[in-house]
Amino acid sequence: MDDELSGEKWGRKFPGSTNTRDLSGNFRLAVEDFLYAMKEAGIRVAINATYRPPQRSYLMHYAWRLARKQLDPQHIPKMAGVNIEWDHGEIDASVKAAKAMLIVLQIHHLPIKPALRSQHNSGLAIDMDLLWNGTVEVKDASGNMVKIATLPRTGMNRQLIAVAATYGVKKYNGPGSDRPHWSNNGY
Ligand SMILES: [Zn+2]
Repeated sequence: MDDELSGEKWGRKFPGSTNTRDLSGNFRLAVEDFLYAMKEAGIRVAINATYRPPQRSYLMHYAWRLARKQLDPQHIPKMAGVNIEWDHGEIDASVKAAKAMLIVLQIHHLPIKPALRSQHNSGLAIDMDLLWNGTVEVKDASGNMVKIATLPRTGMNRQLIAVAATYGVKKYNGPGSDRPHWSNNGY
């Protein structure tokens, strides 16, 4: 099968999910319980990503690096089942096509390169934005009500992160920063 040149349409080929039903087994149950507790507490939740096919991660990673001229299109490794040709024969055209992909993949503002493999590929991670007003009381997995009056009123709140951990939902704790990211193991 002939390879197809990179560009905008590749951003739509391997869609990711924003639904918790596409998460795996116990982690899905943990996330759904935590989401329910947050809803009851009046915390607003916007889910941006749950399951992400490995092919989408591959496209995100290399399009991001190519758009920033961090590597030569000829040196991008192939991925089985992804018949993409990154090299348009001329660097400016290759970079322009990669940039068009970043917009469709919604990562054109991302300051760090997206991971080539992540817990999302196994349905073990969720990206979400959290927001609330005033003081909230969130039930932890043991049924205790935890009053949260501290700042920030976002997913970076240490008290909320501790509550999430009781459910088995761990805030990102790997290298660098990944603010919206939660997973089964903190990676
Ligand atoms: Zn994530």
